[in-house]
Amino acid sequence: MLEKMEILDVEKVIKEFEAMTKDAENVQRETLKKILEENGSAEYLQNLGLNGRTDPESFKACVPLVTHNDLEPFIQRIADGPSAPILTRKLITNISLSSGTTQGKPKFVPFNDELMETTLRIFRTSYAFRNREFPINNGKALQFIYSSKPSRTKGGLFAGTATTNVFRNSLFKNAMRGMQSQCCSPDEVIFAPDFHQSLYCHLLCGLISREEIQLVSSTFAHSIVHAFRTFEQVWEELCADIRDGVLTSRITFPSVRSAMAKMLKPNPELADLIHRKCSGLSNWYGLIPELFPNVKYIYGIMTGSMEPYLKKLRHYAGDVPLVSADYGSSEGWIGANVNPKVPAESTTYAVLPNIGYFEFIPLKEDAEEQVQDKVGASFISMEPKPVGLTEVKVGEEYEVIVTSVAGLYRYRLGDVVKVMGFHNSTPELKFICRRNLMLTVNIDKNTENDLQLAVEEAAKLISEEKLEVIDFSSHVDLWTDPGHYVIFWEISGEVSDQVLKECCNCLDRSFVDAGYVSSRKVNAIGPLELRVLRSGTFQNILDHYLGLGAAVSQFKTPRCVGPTNQKVLQILCGNVVKSYFSTAF
Ligand code: AMP
Repeated sequence: MLEKMEILDVEKVIKEFEAMTKDAENVQRETLKKILEENGSAEYLQNLGLNGRTDPESFKACVPLVTHNDLEPFIQRIADGPSAPILTRKLITNISLSSGTTQGKPKFVPFNDELMETTLRIFRTSYAFRNREFPINNGKALQFIYSSKPSRTKGGLFAGTATTNVFRNSLFKNAMRGMQSQCCSPDEVIFAPDFHQSLYCHLLCGLISREEIQLVSSTFAHSIVHAFRTFEQVWEELCADIRDGVLTSRITFPSVRSAMAKMLKPNPELADLIHRKCSGLSNWYGLIPELFPNVKYIYGIMTGSMEPYLKKLRHYAGDVPLVSADYGSSEGWIGANVNPKVPAESTTYAVLPNIGYFEFIPLKEDAEEQVQDKVGASFISMEPKPVGLTEVKVGEEYEVIVTSVAGLYRYRLGDVVKVMGFHNSTPELKFICRRNLMLTVNIDKNTENDLQLAVEEAAKLISEEKLEVIDFSSHVDLWTDPGHYVIFWEISGEVSDQVLKECCNCLDRSFVDAGYVSSRKVNAIGPLELRVLRSGTFQNILDHYLGLGAAVSQFKTPRCVGPTNQKVLQILCGNVVKSYFSTAF
């Protein structure tokens, strides 16, 4: 009886979502009012002269658009303590480490109970729609979820990735139970201090509960692919553990060992069955349904930088549907996938008008203004003019601005989205890219600025020999498995192999984005490669652009060369004289 009461009423959730999205404009006004009433007395808003006003017009007139850089001093004060109502009235208790960096340091953003509540709201909304199409029974989920190493800020606040903050929250487990998506692994596995050990045990827990597994998921699709690539390496060891009922000795953490001991019993029949099934597969095609016969779908973020992993994921999934998870960030959630039957790479996200206040900077206009600036028609870089949630136009691209329940006001998220249509009166967004993103393999995000800082740091090593980096560029090589960063350098003279090896390691270590560092540690991103170019290579690139009609005065060296820029990539790769792989991790 108790179990039944906990199950989420999906029809009720859908009904509420439909009603709310039919009235998106009013819901947005109300949401802004609530945020401002709650936090009007916080220092940041006090100083902006709102004087108790909560309407969108006054809000836009008084509160400036900001980036993380602008808010960093406020967030740092929150992190350093002593506690004070700086961005929100109620004190912030947790800090999330967002992907991306500011000035070479990982980005801190505030996390609070209200953000947790909106997280659950979006989870429930997409679950309700998903469950209508792919109903799951009362079973378990094989979730490849991990906790970041917990740390404390100077002021004593807990700091971890946003997902860690969510998984640690007491509401999370209950909510998962309500969505019949309880993780099959014990907490000791989720919070294990070592990623490899955690992954191994997740796989083992999944196999032990194989008949009960209803879905396989992770936050980002690449973690699912990574997990099954690992399975290919360790499957016989997993079978041996199941056969004998004894955990491999390479799982060393006592808490993990004792939690796993409670689950493991000698089961030679299951070990034989898994062994037979794996041996019968051709190149591991259809591995997931073979291992988990009752799995209904595979779930994780699959758009944007995750798209390159879908081919491999489909290979493992066979005919099990892939469903993309929602759209959000450490700063706050944005939209839910309410059309789960759409192919994963075409997923759009319907904005929930009650989880934050949203504005959108039209990119077309923005580009036109920039052109105007360049030709001298306007010398003042005009403040972009964002439009409201219900004012966006189908087919147009926008940069997302978030006002969150966790103390971010008119915050430029840096994401570019395209409006694909409307669900009632709320837009359905397609994720396009990060506005400043240059380098990304999976969950890592490094901007032009991050690349520049890394190159500056490494170049110090050759400046000791009175040499300099004449010019540089970069490329993400996804042909290797795993993908890795390639940095191209043209240097002003001869440098010894020893020093260049050090430069290469230094470059690798200088990308401090949390996503990059964690992926490098587990080899989900391969060692960074430094390629030294023949003298004159960047001149060739300039000549190439001039040949296309570019003006020298406007020319900018492409700092990151994508696979579509074949000609420039050809020039770069055709002029490599030496290359080095990092041994920094
Ligand atoms: P983080 O800073 O680690 O919280 O990552 C948030 C960023 O990941 C967002 O700003 C997006 O750039 C990206 N992201 C999140 N959800 C999605 C999604 N559904 N599709 C594509 N990219 C996403």
